[in-house]
Amino acid sequence: MISHIMPTYARLAVTFERGEGAWLWDENNQRYLDALSGIAVCNLGHAHPAVHDAICEQSAKLLHTSNLYHVAAQEKVAEKLIQMSGMTNVFFSNSGAEANEAAIKLARKFGHAKGIAIPAIIVMEKSFHGRTLATLSATGNAKIQQGFEPLVEGFVRVPYNDIDAIKTTISENSSIVAILVEPIQGEGGVNIPAADYLNQIRAVCDQFDLLMMLDEIQTGIGRTGKFLAFQHNGIVPDVCTLAKALGNGVPIGACLAHSKAANLFSAGNHGSTFGGNPLACSAALAVLNTLSNSDLITQATEKGNSICAAFQEKLQNNSHVVNIRHLGLMIGIELDASCPELVGKALNDGLLINVTQDKIIRLLPPLIINATQITQLVDTLSTLIQEHIFQ
Ligand SMILES: *Cc1c(COP(=O)(O)O)cnc(C)c1O
Repeated sequence: MISHIMPTYARLAVTFERGEGAWLWDENNQRYLDALSGIAVCNLGHAHPAVHDAICEQSAKLLHTSNLYHVAAQEKVAEKLIQMSGMTNVFFSNSGAEANEAAIKLARKFGHAKGIAIPAIIVMEKSFHGRTLATLSATGNAKIQQGFEPLVEGFVRVPYNDIDAIKTTISENSSIVAILVEPIQGEGGVNIPAADYLNQIRAVCDQFDLLMMLDEIQTGIGRTGKFLAFQHNGIVPDVCTLAKALGNGVPIGACLAHSKAANLFSAGNHGSTFGGNPLACSAALAVLNTLSNSDLITQATEKGNSICAAFQEKLQNNSHVVNIRHLGLMIGIELDASCPELVGKALNDGLLINVTQDKIIRLLPPLIINATQITQLVDTLSTLIQEHIFQ
């Protein structure tokens, strides 16, 4: 097939036509179980009625007016986000990378206000923050950066889950103004840090007057069993970025700020034509209302636990399974050998999964996944892993 799309993705040979909950159907009416949710986007599943109704109603009224005027839906989403997160104010973008761009600009503004001429941000090895020039420079993956040099300056990299490396860097570099980190690394391999890692980062940021900036683009919106992953730690960061599941498939991102980051931007400092437009905000509001009026977030914990317990049992005698780790419905199954072929094999068996970092099966099923679907997921994937040829 001749495609006119730039080949930036190695796509699987399937085209989906419709979905409902955790199910997707392709052009030939073949059904698939979606254990990836469009990469942590459709947390409420496909064709969720609340989101569907909200965008239908909004599109009949108004799609866009620009940020030259007040946008009522934006105020409502911001209010809801503040309520659910404990942060204090919001900048709306259209994607995760753009939410992180806003965070990076906040850090630089914060640094300049402190008299630091060339501010630097601590970022992590194996991190992923997006594909714009600044966010790919912040990303800890040489493959993503290669060919796009010169990179944006002002990032200092340390190993993930290593608080001492952070402390050493701060003591050696007086230009550090912020730490940007994922509560759990997604693309990096579902890397779950020590339970008090975020608390330690919070303490360091308080001690040295740095911005604690969390990229919750993948971990946020209920995925880990809390609305935001930092809520497991009882702390509040200074900056938190969201996107992916915020609109359940309608593109919207947000950069949330708190305390010393809350009042850094003034008129003219940042902007976006589409950011927080009425259509996107109507979807986000439906998502946030659905989550706060249900126990879906609690269910993420229960379902994650039951999925992983079932995998543990099925795979306990497989010596190639290094470990099975998760927080809520963010799940990683690490094998001791390369396994990207499992993605195509699972597809043939009607199951959508992902493999990241070559050896780690990543599952991000929708929060609405039911017991029958959980059984199908565990049975299908366990069988594929048992049959996988390890070399
Ligand atoms: C997906 C992702 C991004 C980038 O989001 P886009 O909407 O693709 O720009 C950034 N950070 C993390 C942790 C992500 O998972």
